[in-house]
Amino acid sequence: MDRAACERLDRACPLAPLRERFSLPEGVLYFNGNSLGALPKTAAADIDRVVREEWGQGLVESWLDADWFFLPRKAGDAIAPLIGASAGEVIVADSTSVNLFKLAASLLRHGKRRRRIVTERGNFPTDVYILEGLVDLFDERFELVLAEPATIAGSIDDDTALVLLTHVNFRTGAMHDMAAITAHCRAHRVPVIWDLSHSAGAVPLALNRWGVEYAVGCTYKFLNGGPGAPAYIYLARDVIPAHRPVVTGWFSHANQFGFEDSYRPTDSLEKCLVGTPPILSLRAVLHGVACFAGVEIDDVVRKSRGLSGLLIRLVDERLARHGFVLASPREPEGRGSQVSFRHPEGYAVSRALRAAGVVTDFRSPDILRFGIAPLYIRHVDVWDAVDALVQVMATESWRAYAAAPPDPVT
Ligand SMILES: *Cc1c(COP(=O)(O)O)cnc(C)c1O
Repeated sequence: MDRAACERLDRACPLAPLRERFSLPEGVLYFNGNSLGALPKTAAADIDRVVREEWGQGLVESWLDADWFFLPRKAGDAIAPLIGASAGEVIVADSTSVNLFKLAASLLRHGKRRRRIVTERGNFPTDVYILEGLVDLFDERFELVLAEPATIAGSIDDDTALVLLTHVNFRTGAMHDMAAITAHCRAHRVPVIWDLSHSAGAVPLALNRWGVEYAVGCTYKFLNGGPGAPAYIYLARDVIPAHRPVVTGWFSHANQFGFEDSYRPTDSLEKCLVGTPPILSLRAVLHGVACFAGVEIDDVVRKSRGLSGLLIRLVDERLARHGFVLASPREPEGRGSQVSFRHPEGYAVSRALRAAGVVTDFRSPDILRFGIAPLYIRHVDVWDAVDALVQVMATESWRAYAAAPPDPVT
């Protein structure tokens, strides 16, 4: 394998033209699309139009004239095919953290009289913190179980009130078998919420086919929705009628503009809304998701696995003696669209790579992460990034960052 071979792979890649849909800075190799997706070229002009024309000229009438009022549903319907859901099952609202709270609180409040809440040790912190907050809110009626990844199925039984799992682990990229765990939970009549933040737009997802009833996810990672873009909630069609929201705002009322004195939930998925949606960010979400237009998710997955396999192979070949240990599963089917390596100087190495124009990130305590966004990363980018990493190690340029206190954002 050499750089010319990578160029040949790029010429043969059916997704190569998609890179043109993004506005990417010159001279930067961007391996953080799993943290903040790149800017879709169409987004900036449209946001400008929303601000100057729809807000500036249309004012309050834009709620209807520019369809602002229907944007949460419209954005949800655009996301649905990427996660194997149907129209009317996905709605965009609030943040992933808040949506986790909304769903989990409702399922615990209205669920069976059971005691245990199961999640995974090493889950994304916000997921665990939200559950800890709920245990406190429900006055310790529930007990939180942090299961080891390998023992999750065994931790779920007839005393489990709720399971909350993240499909792809943010540190290692390890991916759960969502179909099998969901079937196991349903056999014990336990509701399970899946967090798709590191999955949507990058790995195969078939929520309807796998019998998934509840999910949330983030739109600013592989879906390119922009910084702080609102998140989504998925409820399977079958569970929408019985779902009872506990955060009951006016946007989920059965008769919102009747301004009734008391709350009544609407029948549709809009019952998951709470308050006024962030229109500027929602419009950006439409552009982020539109970057997948005409794209087969199978091609995305194939390219993701090709790129991450290439990265693993090149690091094995060229950097093994520098102490990088693969933290991600080696088999592509068990991995999300990222490759992580453990290294004792992971933080300093990630800063030195940035100084060399390669954007990766660091996750405590020792993980150097490469996010693989298949819509805009090329095989030559992987080659060049590994080249840069070889340079960082050979010249020991990471030493300049080793003593400094870490940045507030890593
Ligand atoms: C990124 C991410 C989130 C983000 O939550 P916010 O509320 O948007 O900050 C939540 N869960 C997981 C698993 C994530 O990877």
